[in-house]
Amino acid sequence: MFIGIDDTDSEKGLCTTYLAAVLMERLEPYGTIIGLPRLIRLNPCARFKTRGNAALAFRLESNRLDEVKEIALKTVLELSDFTGRNTNPGLVIAEEVTARMTAFYRSAVTEILEIEEARRLLDELGIWHRGFKKGRGLIGALAAVGAELPDFTYELIAYRERKCWGTPRVIDPASVWKADALTYPQTWDTVDHHNSRVVFAPHSGDPVLFGIRGSDPGAIEEAFQTIKSEPAERRVLYLTNQGTDAHILAGEVGDTLDSQSYRLHGRVAEAATAIAGGHLFFVLQNETARLKCAAFEPTKNFREIVLRLIPGDELEVYGSVREGSLNLEKINILRLAEQEEMTVPLCPQCQRGMESAGRGQGYRCRRCKTKSIGRERKVKSRDMEKGFYEVPPCARRHLSKPLVRLSGELVHPSR
Ligand code: ATP
Repeated sequence: MFIGIDDTDSEKGLCTTYLAAVLMERLEPYGTIIGLPRLIRLNPCARFKTRGNAALAFRLESNRLDEVKEIALKTVLELSDFTGRNTNPGLVIAEEVTARMTAFYRSAVTEILEIEEARRLLDELGIWHRGFKKGRGLIGALAAVGAELPDFTYELIAYRERKCWGTPRVIDPASVWKADALTYPQTWDTVDHHNSRVVFAPHSGDPVLFGIRGSDPGAIEEAFQTIKSEPAERRVLYLTNQGTDAHILAGEVGDTLDSQSYRLHGRVAEAATAIAGGHLFFVLQNETARLKCAAFEPTKNFREIVLRLIPGDELEVYGSVREGSLNLEKINILRLAEQEEMTVPLCPQCQRGMESAGRGQGYRCRRCKTKSIGRERKVKSRDMEKGFYEVPPCARRHLSKPLVRLSGELVHPSR
């Protein structure tokens, strides 16, 4: 059977991944967990998410269905934060994964869905489910069960002992930097070199101690063994759609919907301008339409790249459309426009810079007695390479494919 859970936590605490980890442990005597549990991120623009719009699913081989349902229900009731205003838990237990469930996952990671759409499909397919309060978690629970992962990464999450919840996390930063040095690029986003930060641990009151992301379970384990911290109550390795761009749709400027994420092709129409707070905006256009693209202050050093773009640069941009503008996650510069500058002419004889001959009189070389009518246009070096640039780890969205996962010369990972 395939068990899916979502929307059990609140800003105040708990975490759906923790609930799933505890549930898997409780179900061990009743069957066998097949493969790795799945940490599935859904549309990052979903309105009611607590943090990263995560849902959980795992596969259990068991012939004790009734007991499994009872334990799952009890665990959801015990470990959900029912006081959370936006906590609406959902639990789904399916006997198989069908094409309609997979299609539902694809919609949940790219679009905004209604609770009714989940309920309707669950009823039509005759899937056992329980929704609490508004039951919004049924959307994520069903999507997590249906998730197909043509591309995937791993995350190992370590959980805190209950007595530590709500207190500052004790993690030795030097050991985290060491773990990164030993295992990058098979692991990523543990630290942010450019911004000198450890980024793999939350600061909230939830049970997560830290999470190590990567492409190779061996390297993740090595990083885990290297990190010195308060004792972990438990740890779980998840298979996940994080870092795969599963939310990104191929789209066109002028044909985007709010709360959806895209890869769009166009040319810079207006260079970036900054507003108070350090947020940058530039305008991208294609033959028919224009779109504002944003690099907000938290994207830190990525903004230096955005500031260097000039009208005419040909790009692909990746990000989510919110209130009419696209929040950038990464860009691929396909062609750099020529930038011209006006320079003082050089004397054709001595090759030194000429001087002004007086207002409106052009330029002259005193030494050689040569003259020139005006300044000359010269192509200026752009001082940047084409290719992919991304926001730094401290600003990474869970679903965004980090550039460390791409290969090639024109890839500039932010580390
Ligand atoms: P955490 O990351 O701490 O687990 P969260 O950010 O995952 O929290 P949830 O508490 O799971 O947030 O709340 C997200 C809610 O949005 C869930 O009820 C989920 O079912 C719902 N949801 C997920 N995807 C969509 C979607 N595409 N459209 C509408 N609702 C969605």
